[in-house]
Amino acid sequence: MKNTLSGKNVVIVGSGVGGLSAGILLAQSNYKVTVVEKNKLPGGLMRSYKRAGMDCPVGVHYVGALGENEPLAKMFQVLGISVHELFSPMGQEGIIDRYIFDDLTFDLPPSIDALEKNLRNAFPEDSAAIDVIMINLRDFSRRMIDPSFLFNQGDPFQNMDYYQPMGELLDTLKASAGFRAVLSVPCNLIGVQLDDCPVIFHHMVLACYLFSSWRLKEGGSKMTDVFVRRLQELGGSLILDDGVKKISLTEGKVSGVILESGTVIPADFVVAAIHPKILLQLLNENDLRETYRRRAKGLKETEGVIAVQISVNAAAHPEINHNIYRLQKNENGIIEDGVFYQLRSANSPNSNLLSIITKSSYSDWVPWENTISGRRGKDYEAKKMDIAVSLLQKAADIFGNLKDAKILDVYTPLTIRDYVSAPEGACYGIMRSSRQLLRAISLNNVPVGGLFLAGQNALAPGVMGSIMGSFNAARQIMGVDLFSQQIK
Ligand SMILES: Cc1cc2nc3c(=O)[nH]c(=O)nc-3n(C[C@H](O)[C@H](O)[C@H](O)COP(=O)(O)OP(=O)(O)OC[C@H]3O[C@@H](n4cnc5c(N)ncnc54)[C@H](O)[C@@H]3O)c2cc1C
Repeated sequence: MKNTLSGKNVVIVGSGVGGLSAGILLAQSNYKVTVVEKNKLPGGLMRSYKRAGMDCPVGVHYVGALGENEPLAKMFQVLGISVHELFSPMGQEGIIDRYIFDDLTFDLPPSIDALEKNLRNAFPEDSAAIDVIMINLRDFSRRMIDPSFLFNQGDPFQNMDYYQPMGELLDTLKASAGFRAVLSVPCNLIGVQLDDCPVIFHHMVLACYLFSSWRLKEGGSKMTDVFVRRLQELGGSLILDDGVKKISLTEGKVSGVILESGTVIPADFVVAAIHPKILLQLLNENDLRETYRRRAKGLKETEGVIAVQISVNAAAHPEINHNIYRLQKNENGIIEDGVFYQLRSANSPNSNLLSIITKSSYSDWVPWENTISGRRGKDYEAKKMDIAVSLLQKAADIFGNLKDAKILDVYTPLTIRDYVSAPEGACYGIMRSSRQLLRAISLNNVPVGGLFLAGQNALAPGVMGSIMGSFNAARQIMGVDLFSQQIK
């Protein structure tokens, strides 16, 4: 029987990986947790969807650091979730990602030592710059496996140099165009350009994938099921298809939430595992200081994407256990265009799934801004299909004959916007650029008693960043001492 203590009722808004992991952490410490989700199905971006019987991913293509004693694995261990039930390792042939430029192909290998070797082979003229980057990456890896990284995020990285933009660091190091372009790719994985991407995020993302890289064995729906099962076995509950409409306050402190259906849930704490601009809509105008409101509203979003899911003949196109990036760089090493490809099995005997993703600006979809999914009209469908067909044609340069390929689905920034309430369809939430880093971090101190941010908008994006954000919210609610006692 669960021990429900007074002052321990928590409502979590949003059932993405951020909301569910915050719920699990707090339920483990005897909080009475209710996760509320506006959609009919839980999981947010973590969840996959089915087309023609194939499991199509949305927000989990690959993750890093799930090997023994690595940071994300330790977080899974704390959450009580089995890595091996969900993930299998990538990179057995020595490649995690293949970056294909017009004049250069670079393989990102699955370890720091192997990366150093590949970089020194490809860019002998950058020897001094490689020395610095390798010292940094090794320093980061060491700090990320220190227990304080899990229990006291932020502290391991007090070196202010790590907050400068990666582009500036590479300018100082006089990096060649090729070296600069290769090092740009991890910035894309959090939706920031190299010139404005804080060194800390660049190194953290790259170090994670170099620890070890993993793909889901089955798909994001299974991952969601496992997170939900864990929440429920700890006594947490999940309400679906009924979003939070309002967060109620009493004397400046949260007292509960009101759902779209009118249901009222009392709460001592509310964890908003949603976008901060959406959080503003759940509060009355005068519940928050105007400065906080203005800061949140003024933040720039990460860019949206268009993604195409394609069924291909499995015999002609077997699974490839690494990802492929086709990239265009200019003479200064700035990546101007890029396409991500992942070819993998998807529980279908004769077909494999080719996922293609490239950036797509929200402004390109503004004509359909006021439409809803499934009813956006013929022009929208035609534009989406034109882009999808062109991406499929270009994919033949890499994968050979794709004549039998069949487009199963295409989603745009509008799809993501409406599915998870992400303003402008931002893939990675608010942009963690050097320019707005302090403003973004300061949002974490919500000036309302009992209200906390979690998920990708709290500390950092991606599966690992979102879970870190939830560790941070749980730590704020439980207090540092209790958190470090209970989270082992
Ligand atoms: C195309 C794409 C590819 C990606 N690939 C990767 C990858 O390969 N690896 C990686 O690590 N990361 C990847 N990411 C990023 C990763 O998916 C996200 O960082 C992470 O899933 C965010 O989780 P979250 O819980 O913070 O937010 P979300 O998953 O967005 O969850 C928020 C939830 O809140 C719900 N919600 C919103 N408003 C309300 C309300 N008022 N009431 C109730 N519920 C509400 C939404 O419906 C949603 O379910 C990718 C993202 C995208 C878009």
